[in-house]
Amino acid sequence: MIPQVPFLDLGATYRELQPELDEVYRRVMTSGWYLLGEELSSFEAEFATYSGSRHCAGVASGLDALVLGLRALGVGRGDEVIVPANTYIATWLAVSAVGAKLVPVEPDPATYNLDPTACAAAITERTRVIIPVHLYGQPADMTPILELAAARSIRVLSDAAQAHGATYRGQPVGAFGDVTAWSFYPGKNLGAFADAGAVTTNDPEVDARVRLLRNYGSVRKYENEAMGVNSRLDELQAAFLRVKLKHLDEWNKRRSRTAERYGEALTDAPIRLPAVHPEASSSWHLFVIRHPGRDELQRRLSAMGVDTMIHYPIPPYRQRAYANLRVEANFPITDALHREVLSLPIGPHLTEGDRERVVEALIHSLNGLPGSTE
Ligand SMILES: *Cc1c(COP(=O)(O)O)cnc(C)c1O
Repeated sequence: MIPQVPFLDLGATYRELQPELDEVYRRVMTSGWYLLGEELSSFEAEFATYSGSRHCAGVASGLDALVLGLRALGVGRGDEVIVPANTYIATWLAVSAVGAKLVPVEPDPATYNLDPTACAAAITERTRVIIPVHLYGQPADMTPILELAAARSIRVLSDAAQAHGATYRGQPVGAFGDVTAWSFYPGKNLGAFADAGAVTTNDPEVDARVRLLRNYGSVRKYENEAMGVNSRLDELQAAFLRVKLKHLDEWNKRRSRTAERYGEALTDAPIRLPAVHPEASSSWHLFVIRHPGRDELQRRLSAMGVDTMIHYPIPPYRQRAYANLRVEANFPITDALHREVLSLPIGPHLTEGDRERVVEALIHSLNGLPGSTE
């Protein structure tokens, strides 16, 4: 039996940090305080600094961060929100959750991120928000998007669920636009050991609004100012996140070394490698290649012991959840992406040996694969 190269080894994150995490577990458990306490406020302050924002409010998930971010901006029924046609469905679900109208646009075919030109063409007098998604960890091209938005009083809410540590023009992605939504789902670059998320912003009113909404619309106990929800990041997860935040840059460096190695070993391979925009530095959440024979390539890699994944097999507009969506559903760039993308293992606990086995298996699998002649 050949040992498997796992796509992502989450248990390894615990094993590497076990003494620190066990210590934190004891500290929180013995404190007798489990929600909205000092661990959360410390994490919020630390993550605000890390992400280049003035404020950070912890919430229960990345989806909630998007929903509460939109609600804090006052988005609702009758408003239009521009979203990428190619994203994880959470971006779309948040817009639907607040009752606004989704306006999907095709991506830049080189970076797979929001295309400012397509974005400009989709703007109407009802457009309230643009949501760039820093897909696969690569920052969207923010300058033209922010310029477009500023000229028309449109707000920009970024989905940075895959981009902890990514920078654009040398600054962390949380420094751009009105609101940034983060996920700390276990598999993200900065992940908790359960669901968690955060909203960062430079606007104190948006921050206050998110804090109000995440806690039943209440500032003082049993006094409710707004129809809020229960979406809190608990003390234990906040404390774990504080530990992991200290290791994030090192772990992102490991990802970036793997990306470099894949890049140099595969330059001549008949696949499309990820293209990074000159102003962007990726967090390398995912390393996504493209090939017209993707499904067969994935089967061959799997037979050689290399686990890969597809992000994502079905675009949101083709999901049954959106069967009633009334958009002119014609997104050829998005469709081609979903047919051809394949994510190689790039987690921080991939060994050098694993990395070489991925390269070898990939080159071998491409041999004689239909569609490989470009
Ligand atoms: C993971 C993810 C989300 C949702 O985060 P959850 O914490 O799972 O709710 C939103 N958007 C993108 C792009 C994601 O990758």
